[in-house]
Amino acid sequence: MFEKILIANRGEIALRVIRACREMGIRSVAVHSTADADAMHVRMADESVCIGPNSSAESYLSIPAIVSACEITGAEAIHPGYGFLSENANFVQVLEDHGITFIGPTAEHIRVMGDKITAKETAKALGIPVVPGSDGGVPDIATALKVGDSFGYPVLVKATAGGGGRGMKLARSAAELESAFRTARSEAKAAFGNDEVYIEKYLEKPRHIEIQVFGDGRGNAVYLGERDCSLQRRHQKVFEEAPGPVITPEQRAHIGRVCAEAVAKINYIGAGTIEFLFEDGEFYFIEMNTRLQVEHPVTEAIFGVDLVREQIRVAAGLPMSFTQDDLTINGHAIEVRINAEKIPEFAPRPGKVKVFHAPGGLGVRMDSALYGGYSIPPYYDSLIGKLIVHGRDRPEALARLKRALGELIIDGIETTVPLFEALLDNPDIQTGNYNIHWLEKWLAATYS
Ligand code: ADP
Repeated sequence: MFEKILIANRGEIALRVIRACREMGIRSVAVHSTADADAMHVRMADESVCIGPNSSAESYLSIPAIVSACEITGAEAIHPGYGFLSENANFVQVLEDHGITFIGPTAEHIRVMGDKITAKETAKALGIPVVPGSDGGVPDIATALKVGDSFGYPVLVKATAGGGGRGMKLARSAAELESAFRTARSEAKAAFGNDEVYIEKYLEKPRHIEIQVFGDGRGNAVYLGERDCSLQRRHQKVFEEAPGPVITPEQRAHIGRVCAEAVAKINYIGAGTIEFLFEDGEFYFIEMNTRLQVEHPVTEAIFGVDLVREQIRVAAGLPMSFTQDDLTINGHAIEVRINAEKIPEFAPRPGKVKVFHAPGGLGVRMDSALYGGYSIPPYYDSLIGKLIVHGRDRPEALARLKRALGELIIDGIETTVPLFEALLDNPDIQTGNYNIHWLEKWLAATYS
């Protein structure tokens, strides 16, 4: 097992990894920008190294700075968390060249899944159902129109290099497709420096269902059920739950097996998430994330496993500590993402937190790097905490969430907490009757 791990991240996810290290008897190294000198992850780690100035490009995204920090401290492995360098194949390659273990999949798997067309082709070849659409990239408008005619409208033009919903355009008719095609291409060029786009059938009211998979890199893999992340704003998840309120045990077992077999076939190592749209009982692959997800705690709650510990174990060459038969669902879990943002615009509101009090009690987990007197720097993501609740069933989890939100105190800044308080009183949320468009519609109706 490793003696020392460096965490190439900040905020709640850095704490999450430090906690797993401590329980495993592994020393942890935090890295930080100058703006984060006072951050909780720096205080909690065994050692810390300043790797650069405020901007992420010169600190948390600087491969040379992070590799140097590893060499100075003698860390043998790096956990990337999510975001930043977690899905950067080049980073993984550089670490390999320096003899540092990356706690995550291989550079090759990251590369394949990072390009959406290749990812979709790979998924299809591995037996995973995909959204009907163009065969690979669509080079010009004439080809786009042919695809539109063959699948019928509406269709979605999507960027091959896409992420965060950018370079994605809806077309409800052939006339609309011409402009959607052009805008998607220019947006993709501007955002990713790659204007390749492809076309998919647009699903009208799907849910976002994602399957958690885990592999040991030696042909063994398991699935840990699904998460329903349909409550989204601008394609950003805000509320996630497991198990999905409308997924039957048969549907779960079927899609879960397909996913686990697919990743086993490619000798996938570590945690991965296969994302689907789910409509009328059918799953349609949209992408695979080759890392730990923000919403992984809901899965940990219902299966009673520590996914970060497991990532560290397999990276060190140990077998997974569970088999598929060990994985049974216990109750229901919900996570809400607490952002330093003003609703309903979701405008970032960094600032000084005067008082912070985390909720507690049975079935409550608060993953946050906040503390009273902490100044949230304006340079990074606005996620400041995740509140995760676990109950015997969905109604108990909802009641617990309401109770926990009532105990939470974050004084001095605006947060997304009032959004969740309002949502919990809604009958559709209480019954689980929502899809990927529900939240945007509700926001428009509630705050207009
Ligand atoms: P990104 O990587 O940019 O986030 P994804 O392919 O993961 O792009 O899609 C993000 C979101 O966009 C999905 O969660 C869903 O809300 C919507 N979406 C993507 N593809 C489709 C589709 N074919 N039909 C309807 N909605 C879609």
